[in-house]
Amino acid sequence: MRNYYFGSLVLALLYACGGDPQPKHSFYFGGEIVNPTSEYVVLFKGETPVDSAKLDASGRFELRLDTIQNGLYHFFHRPEYQYLYLEPGDSLQIRLNTVAFDESLVYSGQGEAVNNFLMDLFLEAEGEDPIIRDGYTRLEPGVFRHRLDSLLGRKLGKLESLSGEEPLSEGAREVAYSTILYKNYFYRESYPFWHRKFSEDKTLHPLPGDFYDYRKEISYNDPDLAFLRPYYDFMKFHIANIAYMGCQEACDETKLGLSKTLHFNRHQLSIIDSLVSQEELRDNLFRTVAFDYLLKNDTEAHFEIFMEDFKLRSANNRHLGEIQDLREGIRNLRANKPLPPLYVRNQEGDSLLLGDLSSGTGSTVFYFWSGPEPRHLRNISQKVRELQASYPQHRFIGICLRTEWDRWNELVDTYGLNPEQQFWARDFEEFAHTLVVYHPFKSIIVRDNRIIDGFANLNTSF
Ligand SMILES: [Zn+2]
Repeated sequence: MRNYYFGSLVLALLYACGGDPQPKHSFYFGGEIVNPTSEYVVLFKGETPVDSAKLDASGRFELRLDTIQNGLYHFFHRPEYQYLYLEPGDSLQIRLNTVAFDESLVYSGQGEAVNNFLMDLFLEAEGEDPIIRDGYTRLEPGVFRHRLDSLLGRKLGKLESLSGEEPLSEGAREVAYSTILYKNYFYRESYPFWHRKFSEDKTLHPLPGDFYDYRKEISYNDPDLAFLRPYYDFMKFHIANIAYMGCQEACDETKLGLSKTLHFNRHQLSIIDSLVSQEELRDNLFRTVAFDYLLKNDTEAHFEIFMEDFKLRSANNRHLGEIQDLREGIRNLRANKPLPPLYVRNQEGDSLLLGDLSSGTGSTVFYFWSGPEPRHLRNISQKVRELQASYPQHRFIGICLRTEWDRWNELVDTYGLNPEQQFWARDFEEFAHTLVVYHPFKSIIVRDNRIIDGFANLNTSF
């Protein structure tokens, strides 16, 4: 599983762990990583690193703990991660090849049953997603629900037969069950909005009275669910849905006054505030809304109003620092500002100021890619070639993040990229945060070191 949010809490902790193996242990996690993309495997519970292990020369690692709390964890091998369910006494081996991280991942040993099952669910869901999004959501609500229900039935059936073969613990069963259920609810919440896209309707399709009946079963306060991906994805859509519907009923659109996006996001803050009490889930949802809103690049005055509201509802949010940094980053990328003073390297190894690359006539367009994402590199290179043909007066400059220096050099050669238009950044976190790189096709248009558009997108801005 890959994300474009370049998380910040991992690096500092990588060096803190390790040490001698424990003489007696009740938890073991180890295995082999083929084509490693970093030196470490870090095990997390929620946002807290539990332990980390360094890979040996053959890509093997081992991690032993005296004890472990049962629950949902994830392991991180930069830049990818995957969830797993762990219990005391587990002795779990993984094997994976980073070329196809999720597809190649296999668990063996004590704890394998539930984790291989979760992995199967994850891969199945990836395959089903386009079918549901582009197919099922075109259907009328009754048929749509029927299709989803039979999918749900099939998955629950598989869980039943797994439990028959190998008794799962209550906790393991619960995680598998919630994964199935909330994936289904996620599509239900999204349906009216996706359906509207496909239909000619300007308004949302009327739904049968019992369409949202499952909402009675939703848990808003279970700490075990807070970091379950399908649940979290569901919650985001659920809150947006309630905010949107509530607004349609209660607000007079002609009298909104402020920007529509600010108005809607304030509704979202208020819904989270009233519905969710589990602390981490609350903080994370508030953070997600703040990030989504800030990245819409509204005006400073509107940001001010939003943040006042945010602090009123979530004064001690654990992500407040990060949100303020993002705001600062956005402020520094507004039109007419000079580019932040960041250095990159060319293939000769010379250190160059980013702003200097944009001097001369015409506009310079910066875009970003990274070594561990070859598919993205292919797509973005193709896109840049097209844009270059249509805009010969623009200079397109690729900045490589999250990649070792040697690997970057190799990739520039392998992909036949023009070395004069390719540069390497040492500190990806500094770049990602300062230049607000949260979208894979994010780009920055600059002329003579003055920002024209700090939030351009290669796919939509040209
Ligand atoms: Zn409203």
